[in-house]
Amino acid sequence: HAKNAGRGRYAIFGSEMDAMLQVRRDIERDLRLALQRTDQLEVYFQPLFRASTQTIIGVEALLRWRHPTNGWISPDVFIPIAEETGMIEAIGEFVLRSSCEAARAWPELCIAINVSAIELRNPVFAVKVAARLLEFGFDPHRLELELTESALTDASGVCDQNLRALRELGVRVALDDFGTGFSSLGRLQKLEVDRIKIDRSFINGFGRSNGDEAIVEAIVELARARGLKTTAEGVETAEQGDHLQAIGCDDLQGFLYSRPVPAKDISALMHRAHDLRQTA
Ligand code: C2E
Ligand code: MG
Ligand code: MG
Ligand code: MG
Repeated sequence: HAKNAGRGRYAIFGSEMDAMLQVRRDIERDLRLALQRTDQLEVYFQPLFRASTQTIIGVEALLRWRHPTNGWISPDVFIPIAEETGMIEAIGEFVLRSSCEAARAWPELCIAINVSAIELRNPVFAVKVAARLLEFGFDPHRLELELTESALTDASGVCDQNLRALRELGVRVALDDFGTGFSSLGRLQKLEVDRIKIDRSFINGFGRSNGDEAIVEAIVELARARGLKTTAEGVETAEQGDHLQAIGCDDLQGFLYSRPVPAKDISALMHRAHDLRQTA
């Protein structure tokens, strides 16, 4: 009987596995198609809010995919598949181009773009980005690249070379989702970055978990001592925003201020930046 039960479990597991693999294959096929068209992929932008001036100082580019039959598919689902299949290169180029184009309408804003470790491992990444900026007449000082720790722990040295070349042009680097990876506060001392984005999971616990508040305060303190800027991700309540401002966090990002929106909506948000919190 035990044997049968075991086989039964295996059969269920096996069929679930097959279903998952099929979903993956479908996503891969459909993403490839989406990249050849222009109507399914669109870059949205989420405002980055400066605590001290209560103004929008930049936007983060966040890719959106509207599948023709399944609706919105989260980047958390399709980006990893794009990374494993090499499609991330084409996606990265699409996002950079779309962002440069959209950014023409907001000359005063910085643009933050998420870059995958896979893209950074391409030896010509920096050259490609530089060429694109030149093509669009986009000032490199307005560009910030958001990386996760895996990109900064690449042993080959290629990521480092790309980042060094881009930083020499004036491009800034932010460490995204800080606190979720392997980095300790100690390692932060050695990383070549300009900004730390504190992961949303720590901001969630604000007002509820003293542990999270202490961690965020420690990150902000250490970043300040090192001359790094800090951004808090996932700010959803006024209480969180006020507290983050009080402990000296430079920039705030989250649904409290604005969700990611299409490019055409950014100008309107900028003009009523001071009211953002009332209408959020
Ligand atoms: P991320 O770079 O950490 O982006 C922040 C994510 O948090 C976004 O999710 C954003 O919509 C969400 N968010 C912002 N404020 C709030 C809030 O107040 N509450 C909550 N619950 N969520 C908030 P999104 O757009 O689904 O993107 C997920 C991840 O996918 C991104 O995390 C990034 O790692 C990746 N991604 C998105 N676009 C791109 C892209 O163009 N290229 C690459 N390589 N990765 C991308
Ligand atoms: Mg990001
Ligand atoms: Mg993040
Ligand atoms: Mg994230």
